[in-house]
Amino acid sequence: MRDDNGAGRKPVTGDAVVIGAGMAGLAAARVLADRFARVTVLDRDTLPAGAESRRGVPQGAHPHALLAVGRTALEKLFPGLTDELVESGARWIDVVRDAIVWQLDGHRVRADSGIEVLCMSRPLLESCVRRRLLTMPNVEVRADTAVAGLAGQAGERVTGVELADGGKLPADLVVDASGRGSRSDSWLRDLGFPAAPESVITIRMHYTTRLVRGRFDRLGGPGVLVAAESPPGQRRYGAAFPVEGDGWFVTLGGYHGDRAPTDPEGFQRFADELPESSIAELLRGTEPLSDPVGYSFPTSRRRHFERIRLVPAGYVAVGDALCSFNPVYGHGMTVAALEAITLGECLDRSDSTDAQLARDFYRRSAGLIAVAWDMAASADFAYSGTTGPRPRGLAVTHWYQRRVVRATHVSAEVAEAILRVQHLIEPATILLRPTMVAKVLRAARQARLARDAQVRG
Ligand SMILES: Cc1cc2nc3c(=O)[nH]c(=O)nc-3n(C[C@H](O)[C@H](O)[C@H](O)COP(=O)(O)OP(=O)(O)OC[C@H]3O[C@@H](n4cnc5c(N)ncnc54)[C@H](O)[C@@H]3O)c2cc1C
Repeated sequence: MRDDNGAGRKPVTGDAVVIGAGMAGLAAARVLADRFARVTVLDRDTLPAGAESRRGVPQGAHPHALLAVGRTALEKLFPGLTDELVESGARWIDVVRDAIVWQLDGHRVRADSGIEVLCMSRPLLESCVRRRLLTMPNVEVRADTAVAGLAGQAGERVTGVELADGGKLPADLVVDASGRGSRSDSWLRDLGFPAAPESVITIRMHYTTRLVRGRFDRLGGPGVLVAAESPPGQRRYGAAFPVEGDGWFVTLGGYHGDRAPTDPEGFQRFADELPESSIAELLRGTEPLSDPVGYSFPTSRRRHFERIRLVPAGYVAVGDALCSFNPVYGHGMTVAALEAITLGECLDRSDSTDAQLARDFYRRSAGLIAVAWDMAASADFAYSGTTGPRPRGLAVTHWYQRRVVRATHVSAEVAEAILRVQHLIEPATILLRPTMVAKVLRAARQARLARDAQVRG
């Protein structure tokens, strides 16, 4: 019998190389460790011993929400991880009860939902995962080792990697987890493989984030997520996530070129202009631990290896190298963890690391990715200026989405349902069940009437 971590499976042989020790690379390496004799993870960065930001992952200075499903997947891969994170200061929140969310001119109702997520910084999560991976005797993580290309037989298979220092490393399977900036398109082209077609959605989004420390007493608890979104037609948002050490990542931003300044006064002013005051109050009542730092995210980008016929054997792309999602929805690390588990399942079904393994992996991953991609895409196209492949039926989707959001102002049941979808716990179709549609429309109408009465006086 096999278990989720690979005990009891067929004998392990051969070498696997993983390019990149980010979240996708670490999760993939854990799965490969049960299925290959040796696993070598290469990263061009100097990897810190503890929970510190690093140059190769600049997004680590910005909030990283780990969805409930992602935490469960990582716990499966690294048993005991959750307890270690909590001991290191990560904070549990119930995403409905502990969240102040302002959207479409109203607050979301707050109630127990049972959807609990763990909040911490990306460097803390990554360092705990890396430490756990390093306890595996057949895994080596080599820092300061940049990959400069792929070795292989033209048009047939990848047989290893070429290092920037001129060295080579042979492998039966190369996993490209080198992130959004992956150069494997050109590396594969050099080996005679066609580039995978891409879907690109242009959102021109900007994050500006500041780390602050302190209690936010208005919310009556230590772990609370706050988010405010400007009314439709505008393109701004703000969010604050609790992290270890009584810290908060406060992020302000906008779509299509609208951005919060990085000077402290301008940052506070941008927060003051949001339609809900919680974030501005939180900034005023806490101690800054960092200057505001910016990050531009021009496009969401997805590579469709599942659509090409000449798929390279001995190579798969995972994580952001396969699909880089709009970060606002917090899907990246969760999908990367699910892809790692999928890769393990595909390896178990396959006798070799041939092209069929890669095809099988890309076909199954495409299903996982599509759920998150479609959800983000339909929300992104609510902003004028968004370009790229438009999901079908957008007008109806947006009409219904607005009613779902309004319904969450009064209905805990609808709030829980939408969060279950956003956290990839349930498919979006649960919101289309006739009983749910009726509840949404009734609650949205009730919210609208309550709001009109409030405006009248
Ligand atoms: C601003 C921002 C906020 C985000 N917020 C969230 C969030 O809230 N929740 C969430 O789940 N996800 C979030 N994400 C996405 C998340 O960061 C990624 O999806 C996730 O980390 C998986 O990335 P990865 O491991 O594929 O790539 P990365 O984390 O980018 O890691 C790639 C690694 O590859 C290494 N590397 C690159 N090139 C080479 C090379 N040639 N040789 C050797 N090593 C190389 C790099 O040094 C790096 O360590 C956010 C992203 C951004 C940009």
